Amino acid sequence: MTRLDEAAGPVDRFDAARLTLQAHRNTGGCLHCRPEGCEQLRWAVEELSQHPGGRPLLAQARIPLSGTHPCSSEEGRSW
Ligand SMILES: [Zn+2]
Repeated sequence: MTRLDEAAGPVDRFDAARLTLQAHRNTGGCLHCRPEGCEQLRWAVEELSQHPGGRPLLAQARIPLSGTHPCSSEEGRSW
């Protein structure tokens, strides 16, 4: 069982973020989704953007990295 609101460890946090992103891709949302946005998804994007392994996942999900300009050098890479 994973407590999303507790920092269990880098791997657990990454995994939880990955699953959160996956859930939003598969089902289009989660229990935390609100009309104005999703705190859970925002956390997941934040978490994944800080991991090298998470960036390809964000790219696949077509979710722009916060603070990263679309024209950055990573745009041209094929993952
Ligand atoms: Zn959500």
